[in-house]
Amino acid sequence: MLNVDLHSHSTISDGVLAPEALAQRAHEHRVQLWALTDHDEISGLARAQQAATELGMQFIPGVEISVTWLDKTVHIVGLNIDYEQAELIDSLAYVRRGRTDRALKIAERLDSLGVPEAYEGAAAYATNPQLISRTHFGRFMVEQGYCASMKEAFERFLGDHGPAFVPMQWATLQEAVEWITSAGGKAVIAHPGRYRFTRQQFELLFERFKEYGGIGIEVVTGSHSVSDYQVYAQVAQRYGFEASCGSDFHWAQEGRMDLGKVPPLPRQLTPIWHDWPLS
Ligand code: AMP
Ligand code: MN
Ligand code: MN
Ligand code: MN
Repeated sequence: MLNVDLHSHSTISDGVLAPEALAQRAHEHRVQLWALTDHDEISGLARAQQAATELGMQFIPGVEISVTWLDKTVHIVGLNIDYEQAELIDSLAYVRRGRTDRALKIAERLDSLGVPEAYEGAAAYATNPQLISRTHFGRFMVEQGYCASMKEAFERFLGDHGPAFVPMQWATLQEAVEWITSAGGKAVIAHPGRYRFTRQQFELLFERFKEYGGIGIEVVTGSHSVSDYQVYAQVAQRYGFEASCGSDFHWAQEGRMDLGKVPPLPRQLTPIWHDWPLS
């Protein structure tokens, strides 16, 4: 059984390990097919690829694009992309453009909620100044003792219904799928079990995604419960989606699944890597 992990984050977005250290951890955990999928950023991929190659590990260049669909945030993973494609590089810069303003607004709200200097605080946790995410705010608030855990930081402040939430207009679903596809990659719906859509909205999401050229769906991920695996295995079969799997690893102290500890995909599914030339 191939050890596959096709969803992970480095310091280039909101992970805690640098691309090289992440490659090292993947290798230590016996990953055989690994993808780095930073949020809206591909500038870590060359480093990750180099490190993976030196370790004799097969590497898939990836990205996780933030999308706004029906006024909610959806994440679309792109796998096996050409990360030197100028159009993709420019498009992702366009998706990232509002993050600094948003971070300043989040900090203003936190200030009024009794958490001062959160912009500087969050920025200190971000390696990439263009990519301050809610995760960085969460880490700052946990380490400063405002919250006991990331979970609490999102529940009380940063989550989509929290008082410090600042809505964003990310890419459209069609844009994200098309950028990935024109860069030679496969578009995959990330952690569908996390979205709060109605049944009809989910059906529309899957139909539109497929129409635009989307190929896959994450079935086994650190964001899913075991019962979600069954639900999205059925969705994959019903819509003819290929199946992907990944830990969504950010840091060992955060999240349920460690890098390289991804349970196998249900057997009846077509894995997203079925037509990649693996050695
Ligand atoms: P952003 O792209 O700035 O909106 O931040 C989204 C990131 O926040 C996600 O990629 C997760 O890493 C993190 N996140 C979202 N919801 C939660 C949660 N409930 N608990 C912990 N981390 C979360
Ligand atoms: Mn994240
Ligand atoms: Mn995500
Ligand atoms: Mn992710």
